[in-house]
Amino acid sequence: MNTPKSKGNATVQKKGIRSMLFAYLAVFCAVVLLLIWIVQVFLLDSIYHGILLYRMGEAATTLTSVVESDDPRRGADAVAVNYEVSIAVFRVENDMLAERVLMADGAAGSVLAKLKNAEYADLYRSAKENGGTATKDFAVQYTFGPETRPGKTVTSHRLVYVSLQQTVDGTPIALFLDAAIIPQGAQSGAVMVEMILLSLLFVIAALVLAHEMSKRIAAPLAGITAGAKQLADGRYDTHFESDGCREIEELSNTLNYAAQELSKVDNLQKELIANVSHDLRTPLTTIIGYAEVMRDIEGENKPENMQVIIDEAKRLSDLVNDLLEISRHSADGKTPVVPQEFDMHDLVRETADRYRQMLEKDGFLFKTEIGDTPMPVTADRARIAQVLNNLIHNAVNYSSENKEITLTCTKTEDGYTRVEVIDRGEGIPADKLPHIWQRYYKVDRRHKRSVVGSGLGLSIVQGILEAHFARYGVDSRVGDGSRFWFELPPKGSGS
Ligand code: ADP
Repeated sequence: MNTPKSKGNATVQKKGIRSMLFAYLAVFCAVVLLLIWIVQVFLLDSIYHGILLYRMGEAATTLTSVVESDDPRRGADAVAVNYEVSIAVFRVENDMLAERVLMADGAAGSVLAKLKNAEYADLYRSAKENGGTATKDFAVQYTFGPETRPGKTVTSHRLVYVSLQQTVDGTPIALFLDAAIIPQGAQSGAVMVEMILLSLLFVIAALVLAHEMSKRIAAPLAGITAGAKQLADGRYDTHFESDGCREIEELSNTLNYAAQELSKVDNLQKELIANVSHDLRTPLTTIIGYAEVMRDIEGENKPENMQVIIDEAKRLSDLVNDLLEISRHSADGKTPVVPQEFDMHDLVRETADRYRQMLEKDGFLFKTEIGDTPMPVTADRARIAQVLNNLIHNAVNYSSENKEITLTCTKTEDGYTRVEVIDRGEGIPADKLPHIWQRYYKVDRRHKRSVVGSGLGLSIVQGILEAHFARYGVDSRVGDGSRFWFELPPKGSGS
């Protein structure tokens, strides 16, 4: 039973690759933007503060060495400009700030110049309590003078950093550094613009990406689906294009292969019907013709005519047997084998004798090249006999003026039992050799003798030999004849 899912119209319409890609990319964009927002809103401030403090710490270390140099003023100016900070350095005496030894201004709007001594002292104390460093934020109001923008007041946020140090000679000093903090408002405004830009870019990139991807995946798939429908309608010449990604290329290659195989099966089926109907019709017409003559014309009821009917009926029965045999093989793909030990010399000799008796009168010469000692093999005797019969049958069928047929039986160096059926007949063209084992294959359909065969004999031979794990083959040259051979493995090997 089919699940409702697979029932064509009754199915819930599934999403296409294109819309799925768009959906996935939209979710991806949303997640990425959200993460960026979170980082910006919650972490930016602390990251910014961290970097500012680190730079001020660095400036303080540089400044300590500058204080002891020959020209501390110039050194302090350089530090102030480099780090964009204002600087004030105090000597410390008896745990209290004594005199200010240095002052430098590297940033506009410094708060240090405006600090009162008491505020310096407070900052010093908190640094002391805090293990040597302290920070404090200041919001400084500026009112523009009357000549520029009268009455306009702006607020500048400053960070003051205090670091307690000692010079090399052991004099304690207190370093005060002050830098501007970029105002929060300006920051979040910039972030907002940045986020909107980013979101737009993301959406555009996602659209382009989804479009490109769906072009590369969905379009070839649609082509393949259309091709597969044609294939289902029996158009086996359908070719599947393999552009796109590797998986799609593999899919189209597989479908091309399937189309090829289906077309072969289709051809075989047509050939089978043509062959079988032809093969059945010829003997049937003969039988009916002879039987009618014998019934209607007095004196025609002769044994020769009867013999023709019997021969043709035998041909029919052989053909039906072949067909049955083939269908039995193809049912499970294997030929059933019942192995037993028998003498191969015996079988070859027996078969040759039988054919000799039957066909000597038609000018056939059956030769055997076999030793006197027995050649035991373990195999299915009846089936190997069938192989020999089919090969000899062909040797007889495709013989020419020279009607000599030789059977040989030898042992190979690696212990296999080799049997050859050699004829001096018409031979097989080299380009046809690989095909002769195929079912229903006939080298030349117009050949008068090919009417006799069904194209099944060698396919049956192949099935039996493969079930025995035998090696087999044919050497043939047009005009010289053919040598069909097979080699049965020694007992215990192969099967
Ligand atoms: P068929 O029943 O037509 O003989 P086979 O499967 O036995 O079918 O053989 C397939 C084809 O191989 C034959 O149609 C024939 O053309 C070719 N063939 C087989 N045996 C011989 C041979 N001994 N000499 C020449 N051609 C042969």
